[in-house]
Amino acid sequence: MTLKKKVIRTENEWKQILSPEEFYILREKGTEPPFTGKYYHHHENGIYVCAGCGNELFSSVAKYDSGSGWPSFFEPISYDNIETEVDYSYGMKRIEVKCASCGSHLGHVFNDGPMPTGMRYCINSISLRFKKID
Ligand code: FE
Repeated sequence: MTLKKKVIRTENEWKQILSPEEFYILREKGTEPPFTGKYYHHHENGIYVCAGCGNELFSSVAKYDSGSGWPSFFEPISYDNIETEVDYSYGMKRIEVKCASCGSHLGHVFNDGPMPTGMRYCINSISLRFKKID
């Protein structure tokens, strides 16, 4: 296992590099409205990296249409690249998904996904940047 470089920034530093919308979702655990994100209907081959730090998070190979309104993946590129945490906000028990490198909020993971994992990583488009692979 490789030791990942951690990205640590102050709140003010984050505000300087992120838009207000990005700051709200990545650093304040916000959620973009469903069916609005730029990657919900996005089918190019490539990888999705963290909008906060560039950490490689999800591959287009694991992307599928969940019908949820958010980009959905059945697995991350590496389980070392994400972190999960129990989230009790809004009166629900959910599992939050965060970037393991910079701690930014990505979305949540649910156990109603397709095979081979049965998992649905439900991720905000705003938390991601797409890198095309030809
Ligand atoms: Fe990150």
